Amino acid sequence: MPQQPLAQVPADVRWNWQDFGACRDYDQALFFHPQNERGSARVKRDRAAKRICSTCMVRLECADYAVRAREPYGVWGGLSEEDREQIYSRLDVRTYPRRQGEGARAAAREIADAISAQALGIMDIVDIVDIA
Ligand code: SF4
Repeated sequence: MPQQPLAQVPADVRWNWQDFGACRDYDQALFFHPQNERGSARVKRDRAAKRICSTCMVRLECADYAVRAREPYGVWGGLSEEDREQIYSRLDVRTYPRRQGEGARAAAREIADAISAQALGIMDIVDIVDIA
């Protein structure tokens, strides 16, 4: 049986930002895919989680942590698992961001794109309105 990847929690991690997360008012299941979830169900759930993240005052801290820890599961800071996989594959393991703030700096583009209109599925609504 393959080993599941685990987050590599950085030594300097602080958790106090979690007290201010917008997700505290929502079911955490929205942020983590159930087993065997695929296709449109996964896209819809990820987008719903991303929309909550887009309103969150600690999104940068959350995304910074997730990138630094190489969190394997869930939506963090608006970044889905697939978003983070792209970041992990782009960054050099020898100079991988580990200190506070380095993750947000190294993945600034992806963090911004993670809550773009396209990422949130808003463009789909615009497309529908245009057609109607
Ligand atoms: S960015 Fe998203 S996952 Fe992170 S604390 Fe805020 S709402 Fe929760």
